[in-house]
Amino acid sequence: MTNATDLVPQLLAWYERSARDLPWRRTQDPYAIWISEVMLQQTQVKTVLPYWRRWMRTLPTVRALARARLDRVLKLWEGLGYYRRARQLHQAAQAIVSQHDGRLPATYRQLVALPGIGAYTAGALCSIAFDQPVPVLDGNVCRVLTRLEAIRAHPRQARVARRLRALAADYLARAARVGPGACGRWNQALMELGALVCVPRQPDCARCPLSRWCKARRLGLVERIPRVTPRPAPLVRHVVALVIRRAQTVLVRRRPAGAVNGGLWEFPSLEVSGAEFDPKAVARGLLGYQPSNLISLRPLRHQITRYRITLHVFHHTVPPGFQAPAALGQWRRTDRLEGLPFARAHRRIAATLE
Ligand code: SF4
Repeated sequence: MTNATDLVPQLLAWYERSARDLPWRRTQDPYAIWISEVMLQQTQVKTVLPYWRRWMRTLPTVRALARARLDRVLKLWEGLGYYRRARQLHQAAQAIVSQHDGRLPATYRQLVALPGIGAYTAGALCSIAFDQPVPVLDGNVCRVLTRLEAIRAHPRQARVARRLRALAADYLARAARVGPGACGRWNQALMELGALVCVPRQPDCARCPLSRWCKARRLGLVERIPRVTPRPAPLVRHVVALVIRRAQTVLVRRRPAGAVNGGLWEFPSLEVSGAEFDPKAVARGLLGYQPSNLISLRPLRHQITRYRITLHVFHHTVPPGFQAPAALGQWRRTDRLEGLPFARAHRRIAATLE
């Protein structure tokens, strides 16, 4: 481990000077910190800011979240993606009310027992909200530590991961001696340095408070550390969505719990094997009859994790007396769709109808 006698105060002082002024950093409320940490997973700060503010205005406490209907929770999350996070926040809030009297528990062991709280979130909560010396190892911290120590092996290797955990714990133990609040500040300082200075490509070493201790910089290895796994090529998928209309209403259905985007609403859809498909045959499969009027709308393209999806959208007005099978969902007025939580691509379809 690098001689950390001066390193710790240097990084803490840099954090005092340079940290972004974010609303969840102005509070010690564990609930507010928890919501921010979950929203920030795989999502940028500038995207999270308006969501976090709206969430805290609408559901300001664990009890308010536990009482809320899932539709309301998902609506607040609409557009943030990875909806499992919202469902698990809801489940965890209910568990906190029933098992911990509505207060987030203050131990790592109790936190990781809650739905959706893993090692990272528990570490962040223990250190930031409860000032406990529990390290965090997200992508930013891994990058800073592997460069600081010039670790060339892949951080996912078990022995490297163990070494990183030990390093993070050692630095944090030193930081904890600085005084009250230092555990949270130290972990946030490492993450902030990785987010602002020690970025994946072209880190700003000239402005880095750790540059004089950084072995990767000294050895000219900065651009080669950490080792990364190349991303797999995206998988292409095609889905047909039908806007099935009757007067001022359309059919929409809720995706089943446990499915991708479970609990969100969508227009009746069916995955097809490629871009070449017979729209009438697909529509017949959904509707149960051969539709005579089927109007093609502009396809929508979006990416979810490693899937690049084209949504082929068709509009159809049902004949008089059509009885919709339960699998197609419920009739909803087009001017009332705003209140329902939709997955992003289906929200774009709904927006064209509203
Ligand atoms: S000197 Fe450069 S590579 Fe080393 S920790 Fe700082 S920003 Fe990262």
